[in-house]
Amino acid sequence: MFTPITGRSVVVTGGSRGIGLGIARVFAAAGARVLIVARGKEAARDAVAQITAAGGQASYLLADLAESRSADALARGALDRHGGVDVLCCNAGIYPAVPLREMTAEDIDQVFSVNVRSMMLSIRACLPHMERAGGGRVIVTSSITGPITGYPGWSHYGASKAAQLGFLRTAAIELAGARVTINAILPGNIVTEGLEDLGEDYLRRMASSIPLGRLGSVEDVAHAALFLASDEAGYITGQTIVVDGGQVLPESLAALEDA
Ligand code: NAP
Repeated sequence: MFTPITGRSVVVTGGSRGIGLGIARVFAAAGARVLIVARGKEAARDAVAQITAAGGQASYLLADLAESRSADALARGALDRHGGVDVLCCNAGIYPAVPLREMTAEDIDQVFSVNVRSMMLSIRACLPHMERAGGGRVIVTSSITGPITGYPGWSHYGASKAAQLGFLRTAAIELAGARVTINAILPGNIVTEGLEDLGEDYLRRMASSIPLGRLGSVEDVAHAALFLASDEAGYITGQTIVVDGGQVLPESLAALEDA
């Protein structure tokens, strides 16, 4: 039995849809007070409405995390509304596909500013509040793409997701003295609103490459995040959890066909 996280202050960047909304929903259902950070008002408002209708506590803060000053706004927002930050879920991310031959410096900067720089600045901004509270949890949504696998069009994205892990290994050492842990989840192919648009045929082909025979749900990722936020996971830091239905395991198509 895990210690309840009732009343904890949880910030979820990119919590207005997709995996982040799944994380926000699962934490709110577990009794946490959730602050969703995103740019788009409509989706953020709908996300909060969905969570409160289910009996959870949530609010939103609109910020473009590509701008460095947004990190301080995020931390201040959590302080004003919840008195601090217990758990920071650095989930906001973008993945525009661009072949390497056509990639511009701006394409690279855009992906790194949201996926890497905003994560680092948000953690730095929340750190004093976590230290004051005697500790905290940081949970990063990385990906299998980059740290383990590759996919055409996503070389900059993959580099950013691998960079998150390079960052967290040193950050985990630096923050351990403050009893702040930092871990990452590496999702495989998760069904989100964006993925659903790719059509049933595409989704079926993707599912056929996954040993567990289905794409992941946002809840699959969110439950891993909830575990990493639990008191019981307090001795885990600088680590990664792959949530992919075994997608990275087969060394060839034959390995799946022969199973
Ligand atoms: P998504 O559905 O596109 O949602 C992205 C979220 O991030 C939205 O709430 C979006 O809100 C917010 N966001 C994007 N840019 C932002 C910015 N500049 N400032 C503030 N908020 C911003 O994405 P997702 O598929 O759930 O992915 C979430 C995370 O999981 C990403 O880090 C991604 O790399 C990772 N991931 C996803 C998958 C997958 O299969 N879906 C697999 C592996 C890893 P606004 O647009 O309104 O700002």
